Amino acid sequence: MIISNISSRKVERQQLEVSALIDGYRLWYRFPEKFSVAPSAEPFLAASFFAASQSGQILEIKDSNTASPRLLANLKNLQCIFGCWKPDLRPFTVNLQAAIPHAGNKMVCSFFSGGVDGLYTLLNNESEITHLVYINGFDFHVSPEEFAVNVQRLKDWSAPFEKELIPVETNFYEFDQLYGVGRHWSHGACLASVALLLQPAKCIVPTSFTYRNLRPWGTHPLTDNLWSTEITEIIHDTADLDRPEKLQRIAERSQAVLDNLVVCWKYPDRNCGQCLKCIRTMIILKILGIDTYAFTSSITAEDVSKISPSQHYRHHFEDLLRFAIKQGDEFMERALRRTLSISTTRKIVKFIDDKYLNQSIRTGFRYFQKKRR
Ligand SMILES: [Zn+2]
Repeated sequence: MIISNISSRKVERQQLEVSALIDGYRLWYRFPEKFSVAPSAEPFLAASFFAASQSGQILEIKDSNTASPRLLANLKNLQCIFGCWKPDLRPFTVNLQAAIPHAGNKMVCSFFSGGVDGLYTLLNNESEITHLVYINGFDFHVSPEEFAVNVQRLKDWSAPFEKELIPVETNFYEFDQLYGVGRHWSHGACLASVALLLQPAKCIVPTSFTYRNLRPWGTHPLTDNLWSTEITEIIHDTADLDRPEKLQRIAERSQAVLDNLVVCWKYPDRNCGQCLKCIRTMIILKILGIDTYAFTSSITAEDVSKISPSQHYRHHFEDLLRFAIKQGDEFMERALRRTLSISTTRKIVKFIDDKYLNQSIRTGFRYFQKKRR
Protein backbone atom coordinates (compact mmCIF):
# COMPACT_ATOMS: atom_id res chain seq x y z
CA MET A 1 0.00 0.00 0.00
CA ILE A 2 1.38 3.41 -0.96
CA ILE A 3 0.50 6.81 0.49
CA SER A 4 1.70 9.65 -1.72
CA ASN A 5 1.06 13.30 -2.64
CA ILE A 6 0.44 14.49 0.94
CA SER A 7 -0.40 18.12 0.33
CA SER A 8 -2.56 21.07 1.34
CA ARG A 9 -4.32 23.81 -0.60
CA LYS A 10 -6.74 26.62 0.07
CA VAL A 11 -10.29 26.00 -1.13
CA GLU A 12 -13.47 28.11 -1.04
CA ARG A 13 -15.03 29.46 2.18
CA GLN A 14 -11.57 30.06 3.76
CA GLN A 15 -11.05 26.36 4.06
CA LEU A 16 -7.86 24.38 3.90
CA GLU A 17 -7.87 20.98 2.23
CA VAL A 18 -5.28 18.41 3.24
CA SER A 19 -5.20 15.30 1.09
CA ALA A 20 -3.15 12.27 0.10
CA LEU A 21 -3.37 9.49 -2.45
CA ILE A 22 -3.79 6.09 -0.80
CA ASP A 23 -3.20 3.43 -3.45
CA GLY A 24 -4.53 5.98 -5.94
CA TYR A 25 -7.61 7.03 -3.92
CA ARG A 26 -7.58 10.70 -2.88
CA LEU A 27 -8.56 10.93 0.79
CA TRP A 28 -9.19 14.54 1.85
CA TYR A 29 -10.09 16.61 4.88
CA ARG A 30 -11.30 20.25 4.84
CA PHE A 31 -11.36 22.59 7.82
CA PRO A 32 -11.05 26.35 8.53
CA GLU A 33 -7.63 27.56 7.40
CA LYS A 34 -6.93 29.30 10.69
CA PHE A 35 -6.27 25.86 12.19
CA SER A 36 -3.67 25.06 9.55
CA VAL A 37 -0.57 23.07 10.47
CA ALA A 38 2.12 21.60 8.21
CA PRO A 39 0.75 18.49 6.40
CA SER A 40 2.33 15.35 7.79
CA ALA A 41 2.16 11.59 7.43
CA GLU A 42 0.51 10.83 10.80
CA PRO A 43 -3.18 11.53 9.90
CA PHE A 44 -2.91 9.28 6.84
CA LEU A 45 -1.11 6.55 8.79
CA ALA A 46 -4.10 6.44 11.15
CA ALA A 47 -6.68 6.70 8.34
CA SER A 48 -5.15 3.82 6.35
CA PHE A 49 -4.44 1.58 9.37
CA PHE A 50 -7.32 -0.85 8.78
CA ALA A 51 -6.97 -0.86 4.99
CA ALA A 52 -3.26 -1.73 5.38
CA SER A 53 -4.08 -4.31 8.09
CA GLN A 54 -6.49 -6.05 5.71
CA SER A 55 -3.89 -6.24 2.95
CA GLY A 56 -0.92 -7.09 5.19
CA GLN A 57 1.33 -5.30 2.67
CA ILE A 58 4.20 -2.96 3.54
CA LEU A 59 2.87 0.58 4.03
CA GLU A 60 5.09 2.99 2.13
CA ILE A 61 4.81 6.74 2.42
CA LYS A 62 6.27 8.83 -0.37
CA ASP A 63 7.05 12.58 -0.04
CA SER A 64 7.48 12.27 3.72
CA ASN A 65 10.26 10.23 5.29
CA THR A 66 9.38 10.76 8.92
CA ALA A 67 6.59 10.29 11.45
CA SER A 68 6.18 10.52 15.21
CA PRO A 69 8.38 7.93 17.02
CA ARG A 70 5.60 7.40 19.58
CA LEU A 71 2.97 6.66 16.93
CA LEU A 72 5.32 4.43 14.90
CA ALA A 73 6.17 2.39 18.00
CA ASN A 74 2.50 2.11 19.01
CA LEU A 75 1.33 0.95 15.56
CA LYS A 76 2.63 -2.50 16.57
CA ASN A 77 0.54 -2.41 19.77
CA LEU A 78 -2.52 -1.28 17.79
CA GLN A 79 -1.97 -4.17 15.37
CA CYS A 80 -1.70 -6.63 18.30
CA ILE A 81 -4.93 -5.44 19.95
CA PHE A 82 -7.08 -5.07 16.83
CA GLY A 83 -5.56 -8.32 15.45
CA CYS A 84 -6.78 -10.18 18.57
CA TRP A 85 -10.28 -8.74 18.15
CA LYS A 86 -10.49 -9.12 14.37
CA PRO A 87 -8.43 -12.15 13.32
CA ASP A 88 -8.59 -11.41 9.55
CA LEU A 89 -6.30 -8.40 10.10
CA ARG A 90 -2.66 -9.01 9.26
CA PRO A 91 0.47 -7.31 10.61
CA PHE A 92 2.08 -4.79 8.27
CA THR A 93 5.33 -2.83 8.41
CA VAL A 94 5.77 0.89 7.77
CA ASN A 95 8.75 2.27 5.87
CA LEU A 96 9.31 5.54 7.74
CA GLN A 97 12.01 7.08 9.92
CA ALA A 98 11.09 8.30 13.41
CA ALA A 99 11.31 12.06 14.03
CA ILE A 100 9.57 14.16 16.67
CA PRO A 101 6.90 16.37 15.02
CA HIS A 102 6.98 20.19 15.24
CA ALA A 103 4.81 21.94 17.85
CA GLY A 104 1.08 21.86 17.16
CA ASN A 105 -1.91 23.83 18.53
CA LYS A 106 -2.49 24.56 22.22
CA MET A 107 -6.19 23.73 22.15
CA VAL A 108 -7.97 20.87 23.92
CA CYS A 109 -10.53 19.26 21.60
CA SER A 110 -13.36 16.83 21.83
CA PHE A 111 -15.57 15.33 19.13
CA PHE A 112 -19.13 16.53 19.08
CA SER A 113 -22.28 16.15 17.00
CA GLY A 114 -24.96 17.01 19.57
CA GLY A 115 -25.50 13.40 20.72
CA VAL A 116 -25.47 11.88 24.21
CA ASP A 117 -21.83 10.68 24.35
CA GLY A 118 -20.28 13.89 22.93
CA LEU A 119 -22.49 16.06 25.10
CA TYR A 120 -21.60 14.17 28.24
CA THR A 121 -17.87 14.36 27.43
CA LEU A 122 -18.26 18.13 27.05
CA LEU A 123 -19.98 18.40 30.45
CA ASN A 124 -17.48 16.01 32.04
CA ASN A 125 -14.47 18.04 30.82
CA GLU A 126 -16.08 21.47 30.49
CA SER A 127 -13.31 23.46 32.15
CA GLU A 128 -10.59 21.85 30.04
CA ILE A 129 -12.13 21.62 26.55
CA THR A 130 -11.56 24.68 24.36
CA HIS A 131 -12.76 23.39 20.96
CA LEU A 132 -15.43 20.99 19.68
CA VAL A 133 -14.79 19.09 16.44
CA TYR A 134 -17.83 18.36 14.26
CA ILE A 135 -17.23 16.00 11.31
CA ASN A 136 -19.20 15.58 8.08
CA GLY A 137 -18.37 12.48 6.02
CA PHE A 138 -17.69 10.06 8.83
CA ASP A 139 -20.87 9.07 10.73
CA PHE A 140 -23.10 10.77 8.18
CA HIS A 141 -22.72 12.68 4.95
CA VAL A 142 -24.77 15.72 3.99
CA SER A 143 -24.32 18.35 1.26
CA PRO A 144 -21.96 21.29 2.04
CA GLU A 145 -25.03 23.59 2.23
CA GLU A 146 -26.82 21.34 4.71
CA PHE A 147 -23.61 20.93 6.72
CA ALA A 148 -23.24 24.74 6.92
CA VAL A 149 -26.78 24.94 8.39
CA ASN A 150 -25.95 22.21 10.93
CA VAL A 151 -22.67 23.94 11.83
CA GLN A 152 -24.53 27.20 12.53
CA ARG A 153 -27.10 25.33 14.63
CA LEU A 154 -24.36 23.70 16.74
CA LYS A 155 -22.44 27.01 16.98
CA ASP A 156 -25.54 28.75 18.37
CA TRP A 157 -26.20 25.85 20.65
CA SER A 158 -22.60 25.65 22.01
CA ALA A 159 -22.19 29.44 22.39
CA PRO A 160 -23.21 29.44 26.11
CA PHE A 161 -20.43 26.91 26.75
CA GLU A 162 -17.90 29.35 25.17
CA LYS A 163 -16.28 26.61 23.09
CA GLU A 164 -15.24 27.13 19.49
CA LEU A 165 -16.67 24.69 16.95
CA ILE A 166 -14.29 23.31 14.30
CA PRO A 167 -16.23 21.95 11.30
CA VAL A 168 -14.30 19.24 9.44
CA GLU A 169 -15.42 17.72 6.15
CA THR A 170 -13.93 14.52 4.77
CA ASN A 171 -14.56 11.68 2.33
CA PHE A 172 -13.37 9.10 4.87
CA TYR A 173 -16.74 7.28 4.81
CA GLU A 174 -16.34 6.58 1.08
CA PHE A 175 -12.71 5.51 1.59
CA ASP A 176 -13.77 3.14 4.38
CA GLN A 177 -16.53 1.66 2.15
CA LEU A 178 -13.93 1.02 -0.56
CA TYR A 179 -12.04 -1.34 1.75
CA GLY A 180 -15.16 -2.71 3.48
CA VAL A 181 -13.67 -2.29 6.94
CA GLY A 182 -16.86 -1.29 8.78
CA ARG A 183 -17.50 1.80 10.81
CA HIS A 184 -17.56 0.04 14.20
CA TRP A 185 -13.87 -0.79 13.68
CA SER A 186 -12.58 2.18 11.74
CA HIS A 187 -14.25 5.10 13.55
CA GLY A 188 -11.48 5.34 16.18
CA ALA A 189 -8.82 5.51 13.44
CA CYS A 190 -10.87 8.17 11.63
CA LEU A 191 -11.22 10.30 14.78
CA ALA A 192 -7.49 9.86 15.42
CA SER A 193 -6.69 10.99 11.85
CA VAL A 194 -8.69 14.21 12.40
CA ALA A 195 -6.96 14.82 15.75
CA LEU A 196 -3.54 14.26 14.15
CA LEU A 197 -4.52 16.66 11.38
CA LEU A 198 -5.51 19.50 13.76
CA GLN A 199 -2.69 18.67 16.21
CA PRO A 200 -4.28 19.90 19.45
CA ALA A 201 -2.32 19.48 22.69
CA LYS A 202 -5.03 17.09 23.84
CA CYS A 203 -8.02 15.40 22.27
CA ILE A 204 -10.70 13.66 24.34
CA VAL A 205 -12.65 10.86 22.66
CA PRO A 206 -16.24 10.38 23.93
CA THR A 207 -17.04 6.89 25.21
CA SER A 208 -19.54 4.42 23.76
CA PHE A 209 -19.46 1.84 26.57
CA THR A 210 -18.73 1.83 30.30
CA TYR A 211 -15.86 -0.02 31.99
CA ARG A 212 -18.50 -2.61 32.97
CA ASN A 213 -19.49 -3.50 29.44
CA LEU A 214 -16.42 -2.73 27.31
CA ARG A 215 -16.13 -4.78 24.13
CA PRO A 216 -13.89 -4.84 21.02
CA TRP A 217 -14.68 -1.52 19.33
CA GLY A 218 -13.02 1.19 17.21
CA THR A 219 -12.72 3.60 20.13
CA HIS A 220 -11.56 1.96 23.35
CA PRO A 221 -9.55 2.89 26.47
CA LEU A 222 -6.91 0.34 25.37
CA THR A 223 -6.39 1.80 21.90
CA ASP A 224 -7.28 5.52 21.74
CA ASN A 225 -4.16 6.69 23.55
CA LEU A 226 -1.96 4.62 21.21
CA TRP A 227 -2.76 7.02 18.34
CA SER A 228 -1.04 9.86 20.26
CA THR A 229 2.13 11.65 19.18
CA GLU A 230 4.68 13.65 21.15
CA ILE A 231 2.56 16.80 20.58
CA THR A 232 -1.01 15.44 20.62
CA GLU A 233 -2.28 13.37 23.52
CA ILE A 234 -5.40 11.42 22.52
CA ILE A 235 -7.36 10.01 25.45
CA HIS A 236 -10.54 7.99 25.91
CA ASP A 237 -12.90 9.86 28.22
CA THR A 238 -13.76 8.42 31.63
CA ALA A 239 -16.15 5.53 30.94
CA ASP A 240 -17.86 5.26 34.32
CA LEU A 241 -21.40 6.21 33.29
CA ASP A 242 -23.82 4.40 31.00
CA ARG A 243 -26.30 6.07 28.67
CA PRO A 244 -29.16 6.56 31.19
CA GLU A 245 -26.78 8.14 33.70
CA LYS A 246 -25.33 10.40 30.99
CA LEU A 247 -28.84 11.49 29.98
CA GLN A 248 -29.65 12.20 33.62
CA ARG A 249 -26.55 14.41 33.96
CA ILE A 250 -27.41 16.28 30.74
CA ALA A 251 -31.00 16.87 31.93
CA GLU A 252 -29.72 18.09 35.31
CA ARG A 253 -27.36 20.54 33.61
CA SER A 254 -29.93 22.24 31.37
CA GLN A 255 -33.34 21.52 29.87
CA ALA A 256 -32.36 23.65 26.85
CA VAL A 257 -29.33 21.42 26.22
CA LEU A 258 -31.49 18.30 26.49
CA ASP A 259 -34.11 19.79 24.12
CA ASN A 260 -31.41 20.15 21.43
CA LEU A 261 -30.16 16.58 21.73
CA VAL A 262 -29.80 14.76 18.39
CA VAL A 263 -29.19 10.99 18.48
CA CYS A 264 -30.81 9.90 15.22
CA TRP A 265 -29.32 7.48 12.66
CA LYS A 266 -31.46 8.99 9.88
CA TYR A 267 -30.92 12.72 10.29
CA PRO A 268 -27.92 14.74 11.56
CA ASP A 269 -30.07 17.69 12.71
CA ARG A 270 -33.25 16.17 14.22
CA ASN A 271 -34.66 12.96 15.70
CA CYS A 272 -36.94 10.76 13.57
CA GLY A 273 -38.34 9.00 16.67
CA GLN A 274 -38.45 5.71 14.73
CA CYS A 275 -34.91 4.38 14.31
CA LEU A 276 -33.61 2.08 17.06
CA LYS A 277 -31.21 4.72 18.38
CA CYS A 278 -34.05 7.25 18.78
CA ILE A 279 -36.26 4.56 20.34
CA ARG A 280 -33.54 3.48 22.77
CA THR A 281 -33.09 7.08 23.96
CA MET A 282 -36.87 7.63 24.20
CA ILE A 283 -37.23 4.48 26.36
CA ILE A 284 -34.55 5.73 28.77
CA LEU A 285 -36.20 9.16 29.01
CA LYS A 286 -39.58 7.50 29.61
CA ILE A 287 -38.19 5.31 32.42
CA LEU A 288 -36.50 8.37 33.96
CA GLY A 289 -39.69 10.41 33.60
CA ILE A 290 -37.85 13.19 31.76
CA ASP A 291 -39.77 15.28 29.22
CA THR A 292 -38.01 16.93 26.29
CA TYR A 293 -38.75 18.71 23.01
CA ALA A 294 -35.89 16.70 21.40
CA PHE A 295 -38.56 14.19 20.26
CA THR A 296 -41.92 15.13 18.81
CA SER A 297 -43.68 12.35 20.76
CA SER A 298 -42.96 10.09 23.72
CA ILE A 299 -43.02 6.31 23.74
CA THR A 300 -45.34 4.00 25.68
CA ALA A 301 -44.76 0.50 27.07
CA GLU A 302 -47.28 -0.76 24.48
CA ASP A 303 -45.18 0.75 21.64
CA VAL A 304 -42.07 -0.92 23.09
CA SER A 305 -43.68 -4.37 23.24
CA LYS A 306 -44.19 -4.26 19.43
CA ILE A 307 -40.53 -3.57 18.62
CA SER A 308 -38.29 -6.31 17.30
CA PRO A 309 -34.63 -5.33 17.65
CA SER A 310 -32.06 -6.92 15.34
CA GLN A 311 -29.61 -9.40 16.87
CA HIS A 312 -26.88 -6.77 16.46
CA TYR A 313 -28.88 -4.32 18.61
CA ARG A 314 -30.28 -6.83 21.09
CA HIS A 315 -27.68 -6.17 23.81
CA HIS A 316 -28.91 -2.55 24.04
CA PHE A 317 -32.42 -3.83 24.82
CA GLU A 318 -30.98 -6.20 27.43
CA ASP A 319 -29.31 -3.14 29.03
CA LEU A 320 -32.66 -1.31 28.88
CA LEU A 321 -34.41 -4.23 30.60
CA ARG A 322 -31.83 -4.19 33.43
CA PHE A 323 -32.34 -0.43 33.72
CA ALA A 324 -36.18 -0.75 33.86
CA ILE A 325 -35.82 -3.39 36.63
CA LYS A 326 -33.37 -1.19 38.55
CA GLN A 327 -35.71 1.78 38.30
CA GLY A 328 -38.77 -0.31 39.27
CA ASP A 329 -40.67 0.48 36.05
CA GLU A 330 -42.86 -2.65 35.84
CA PHE A 331 -44.75 -1.62 32.66
CA MET A 332 -41.55 -1.03 30.73
CA GLU A 333 -39.98 -4.18 32.23
CA ARG A 334 -42.87 -6.34 30.91
CA ALA A 335 -42.75 -4.65 27.51
CA LEU A 336 -38.97 -5.15 27.19
CA ARG A 337 -39.22 -8.81 28.28
CA ARG A 338 -41.84 -9.38 25.55
CA THR A 339 -39.68 -7.63 22.94
CA LEU A 340 -36.65 -9.73 23.87
CA SER A 341 -38.63 -12.97 23.85
CA ILE A 342 -39.99 -12.21 20.34
CA SER A 343 -36.44 -11.49 19.27
CA THR A 344 -35.23 -14.84 20.72
CA THR A 345 -38.03 -16.76 18.96
CA ARG A 346 -37.13 -15.11 15.65
CA LYS A 347 -33.47 -16.03 16.16
CA ILE A 348 -34.35 -19.72 16.75
CA VAL A 349 -36.73 -19.85 13.75
CA LYS A 350 -34.09 -18.21 11.52
CA PHE A 351 -31.47 -20.74 12.68
CA ILE A 352 -33.75 -23.73 11.92
CA ASP A 353 -34.84 -22.17 8.59
CA ASP A 354 -31.21 -21.60 7.52
CA LYS A 355 -29.78 -24.90 8.77
CA TYR A 356 -32.52 -27.45 8.01
CA LEU A 357 -35.21 -25.93 5.78
CA ASN A 358 -33.21 -24.12 3.09
CA GLN A 359 -34.99 -20.84 4.01
CA SER A 360 -38.40 -22.25 3.02
CA ILE A 361 -40.15 -20.54 5.98
CA ARG A 362 -38.99 -17.10 4.82
CA THR A 363 -39.72 -17.89 1.16
CA GLY A 364 -43.27 -19.00 2.09
CA PHE A 365 -43.79 -15.96 4.29
CA ARG A 366 -42.73 -13.63 1.45
CA TYR A 367 -45.05 -15.51 -0.97
CA PHE A 368 -48.12 -15.04 1.30
CA GLN A 369 -47.22 -11.41 1.94
CA LYS A 370 -47.09 -10.80 -1.83
CA LYS A 371 -50.47 -12.50 -2.31
CA ARG A 372 -52.11 -10.41 0.38
CA ARG A 373 -51.06 -7.13 -1.34
ZN1 LIG B 1 -33.96 8.38 14.48
